[in-house]
Amino acid sequence: MTRLLIVGPPGAGKGTQAARLAAAYGIPAIATGDIFRHNIADKTPLGIEVKAIVDAGDYVPDSLTNALVTSRLDEEDARDGFLLDGYPRTLDQVSYLDDLLASKGQALDAVIRLVADQEEVVSRLRKRAIDQGRVDDSEAAIRHRQEVYARETTPLIDVYREKGLLIEVDGLGEIDDVSTRISEALAARQIAPVA
Ligand code: ADP
Repeated sequence: MTRLLIVGPPGAGKGTQAARLAAAYGIPAIATGDIFRHNIADKTPLGIEVKAIVDAGDYVPDSLTNALVTSRLDEEDARDGFLLDGYPRTLDQVSYLDDLLASKGQALDAVIRLVADQEEVVSRLRKRAIDQGRVDDSEAAIRHRQEVYARETTPLIDVYREKGLLIEVDGLGEIDDVSTRISEALAARQIAPVA
């Protein structure tokens, strides 16, 4: 019954940590970026609609993104908990998610913020561009995504801090060490992995 968010700049390692957390806490990791990319690859109506936006590193309109998350959270596996990666990213999405969860009698348990140095994340993303061939990982697109993140998404951190939900974790170093830092911070809040 754990409901978590993971936030951080592009390249902070959210996806990697999200997969590990999902396994440890027995919840699905739901990454809006992955869902958009799958829709683009499959040329679904949604994919066709958002392709140019995602390739440019801009944010998909809130109305589309909110609808996507609403239907994903309605699926059976997300009923008792989830880890959202890459959503919410705007203040509008924050209030939408709050209302959505409240309407189901649910609430977030914690928001994990991965803190990472700008230079480090840019070099990680360049490497990922080579390894995975992501169109939105060109150097200009990476820089643009960092700017969009700083402008649109950084304000969310204060909102979650004021709500008392924010856990800040250093995202640099070994993957295992970062995972341990996150687990310890969650344990300090009585949020435990599945046995
Ligand atoms: P990264 O963490 O590297 O920025 P993501 O995989 O999380 O990459 O997202 C890739 C792209 O998908 C974003 O640049 C944006 O175009 C789109 N996207 C993902 N999540 C959202 C969201 N919550 N709101 C708007 N657009 C989103």
